[in-house]
Amino acid sequence: MGSKKSILEKGALIQRDRETYAIVPDIKGGLCTPEILRKIADISEKYELAAVKLTSAARIALVGIKEEDIDPIWEELGMQSANPVGLCVRSVKLCPGTTFCTMGQQDAVSMGIKLDETYCGMELPSKFKMGVSGCPNCCAESYIKDLGLIGTKKGWRLVVGGNAASRPSLAQQVAEELTDDEAMAAIDKIMTWYKNFPKKQRLNRVIDDMGIDQFKEQVGL
Ligand code: SF4
Repeated sequence: MGSKKSILEKGALIQRDRETYAIVPDIKGGLCTPEILRKIADISEKYELAAVKLTSAARIALVGIKEEDIDPIWEELGMQSANPVGLCVRSVKLCPGTTFCTMGQQDAVSMGIKLDETYCGMELPSKFKMGVSGCPNCCAESYIKDLGLIGTKKGWRLVVGGNAASRPSLAQQVAEELTDDEAMAAIDKIMTWYKNFPKKQRLNRVIDDMGIDQFKEQVGL
């Protein structure tokens, strides 16, 4: 039996049966290819998995893996784990934006993938999710993410402090009409500030305690 830590390091999470595990391969932005889908389908049959579950973060979880099959499955997938656990940036959800959607006003795919590559797994005082929507219809649920971008005709609107957890909260706007570079710079300020925040508090609670104006001032927005 592998130790609990080494199994977690393989990106495998114990399931309710206390015997099998789930893994989540990294598919940036949920943009899949036929090759990946074929591989996952073949592996799920070969290893008799209990389920292949589409997750709320637009990922594909392989569920019901025996402990001894974790390594061979990762090897056959040839992919990285997309399952950061604990107090860190967990996921970046994005919509098709101007890449595919007729309603798109900003390039949510490029921006979302850039945020994923920059921040996913970054350790923070609490878990943290991001959402990037290409227009105000907000299909990536930006208002219920710790940090969200919403595309408008004039640029990006930046919102913070949302989540859909047990104490749900809607994100509040802190900037608008941002270019891609301005949005990345503002997000960098927020992430750097929050990373150094001394209490293990989720961002919406931090903002509730100090107020949005004080938050903006402290972050330098
Ligand atoms: S948020 Fe807008 S751009 Fe993105 S999928 Fe929805 S309608 Fe399309």
